[in-house]
Amino acid sequence: QLGGVDFGVHRNTLDVSTADGLSALQQADMLHKTLSGSFVHTILEWSAFCTAIFTAILAFVHFRIKRDVATPIIGVALFCAGCMDAFHTLAADRLIHASADNTDLIPFTWAICRLLNALIMTVGVGMFLFRGINVQKEGLRFIVLTSGVFGITAYVVIRTCATSSQLPQTMFPESLVTRPFDVIPLVIFLILGLVLYPLFCKKHTNVFSQALLISAIPNIMTQVHMAFGSTALFDNHFNIAHFLKIISYLVPCAGLLLNYTRTHKELETEIRDRKQTSRELRATMRRLEEQTRDLRYAQFAAEQASKAKSEFLANMSHELRTPMNSIIGFTERLLEKIGPTLPEQHLDSLQTVDRNSKHLLGLINDVLDISKIEAGAMTLKLTSFDLVGIVSEVVQRSRSLVDNKPLDIYVRLPDVPLPIVADQLRVQQIMTNLLSNSIKYTKQGTVIVSAGATIDEQLGECIRITVKDTGIGIKPGDLNSLFDKFSQVEESGGRPGGGTGLGLAITDQLVKLHGGRIEVDSTYGQGSTFTVLLPLKVPEELTARSESVEAAVHNRGPRKCPLILCVDDDPEN
Ligand code: ADP
Repeated sequence: QLGGVDFGVHRNTLDVSTADGLSALQQADMLHKTLSGSFVHTILEWSAFCTAIFTAILAFVHFRIKRDVATPIIGVALFCAGCMDAFHTLAADRLIHASADNTDLIPFTWAICRLLNALIMTVGVGMFLFRGINVQKEGLRFIVLTSGVFGITAYVVIRTCATSSQLPQTMFPESLVTRPFDVIPLVIFLILGLVLYPLFCKKHTNVFSQALLISAIPNIMTQVHMAFGSTALFDNHFNIAHFLKIISYLVPCAGLLLNYTRTHKELETEIRDRKQTSRELRATMRRLEEQTRDLRYAQFAAEQASKAKSEFLANMSHELRTPMNSIIGFTERLLEKIGPTLPEQHLDSLQTVDRNSKHLLGLINDVLDISKIEAGAMTLKLTSFDLVGIVSEVVQRSRSLVDNKPLDIYVRLPDVPLPIVADQLRVQQIMTNLLSNSIKYTKQGTVIVSAGATIDEQLGECIRITVKDTGIGIKPGDLNSLFDKFSQVEESGGRPGGGTGLGLAITDQLVKLHGGRIEVDSTYGQGSTFTVLLPLKVPEELTARSESVEAAVHNRGPRKCPLILCVDDDPEN
C-alpha cells in the first residue's frame, strides 16, 4: 500500500468447480474479473506506448522547425522503448504468439524492455556528448541510421523473448530485492539522471533537455518500485511502477510541447515584426516615389528657369554689343583724328573711355558666350585650317598686352599636322584666353606657346596646345575650382585684379565641345602650364554637321615647309 491506498489489482483465480454450476453469462463475467489485473496492465502500458508515439512525432516536428538533430534521435529512442512496451503488453495478453509462461514472460519482458529503454537513451544522449561525432552536420542521414539501429535492436529482443519457451525467473518475492533484473536499469537511470542528462542540458539549453532531466525522477522511482517492491503481477508496486513509467514518457513530451508553443510564439512575433517592417518599407517607398516626382518637377522647373535666364542673357548681351561697338569705334576715331591735338588731361580721359569700353565689350562677349553654351545654343563651325597660322596670329595680337614688362613670348611648333579640323574662331579664342591670362599673371620671365601632335590614352591622336609661363602660379587648393564660372583665385601675392572669372570656364566648355580636354599644372610662385588636347579624329556628331571636313581629314599629310636656319644669342630662342 502507498499512503494507505492499494493500487494493486487482486486476481480472482478462476474456480473451475464453481464455474460448472453457473450460466454462460456468469462464467464470462467471472473470466473478466480474473483478467482485471491484465486489463489494468494493458491500459497502463498502452498509454505509455501512445505517449511515446506522440513524443516521437513532436520530436520530428521540432526538428523540422529548428533543425536540431538532438530531439528526433531521443524521440526515436523513446519510440523504440514504447514499441517494446507494446510488444510486452501484446505478449502478456497473448495477442501475439509467445512461448513462455506468463508469470515468467511478463516480468522478464518488462525488465529487458526497461534495460533497453535505459541503454537506448544512454546511447542517444551520449552521441551529443561525445566530441568525435558531429551529429548536427550529419543531419537527417544520421537520424535515419540511428533509428534503424535502435529499431533492429528492439526487434531482435522482442523476437527472442517471444520465441523462447523458457525464460529466466525474474521475481523473488521472499528476498529483499524482489526483482533483481530491474536493478540494472535502475543504475543506468541513476547515471543518466545524475551525470548524462545534466551534461546534455548544459550543451543543449532548451525546455526539452530540461524535461529529459526531470524525467529521470519517475524513471528511477519506477525501477525502485519494481526492484524492491513488486512481489507479484499486478500488485500495488507493479501498478505504481507502470503509472510512473507513463509519467516518465509524459515529461519529455510536455517539454517538447512547451518548446513548440515557445517557438510558435517566437515565430508569431517575428512574422508580426516582418509585416510591420514591410508596411513601413512600403510607406517609405511611397514617400520616396512622391519625393522623386516632386524633385523631377523641381528639376524641370529649374532647367526651364535656367534656360530662360540664359536666353535672356544671350539676348541682352547681343543688344548691348551694338552700342558698345559704336562707342569704341567713335572713341578710336576721336583718338586718331584729334588725339594728338588734345591737352594731356583730355587725351587721358579719352584713353580711359577707350580702355574701359573695350573691357566692357570683352565682358559682354564672355557673358554672351557662357549663356550660349549653357542654353545649348553654341554650335561649332568646323573647318580645316593651318594651326601654325592661328598660333602666330594670336601671339602677334597678344604682344600688345605685354606693356613694358620684361616678358618674352616664345612659340614652338615642332610637328603640327596639316590641316587640323576644328572651329577656327573658337580655337583662336581658347588660345587667346590662355595666352592673355599668362601675360596678365606673369610679371617677368617667359611665356612659351607650343603646339604639336601627341597620343593620349583616352582621346587617341591629338593636337596638344600648351601655354607655359613663369608667373605667380596657383595654389593647389585653388586648382579644383579654376574652371568654374565666375571663379577667381583670391587676390593676394601681387595677383592683379580685374577680370570676370569667366575666361577659363568658357575655354573649358569650348574644348569639351570639340571633344577634347584641358589640364593645368602649376607651382605657386613659379608658374603655370595650361595644356589643351583636341582630338585629331573629329567626333562623328561634329563631322556630320560639316561637309568639307571629311575631305580635309583625308587629305591630311606631313607638313611641307621650307627649312630655315635662325641664329640668336638667347638660349630660349
Ligand atoms: P579672369 O578673368 O579672372 O582671368 P579666368 O577664368 O580666365 O578669369 O581665370 C580664373 C582665375 O585663374 C584668375 O582669376 C587667375 O587668378 C587664375 N589664373 C588663370 N590663368 C592663370 C595663370 N596663367 N597664372 C596664374 N593664375 C592664373
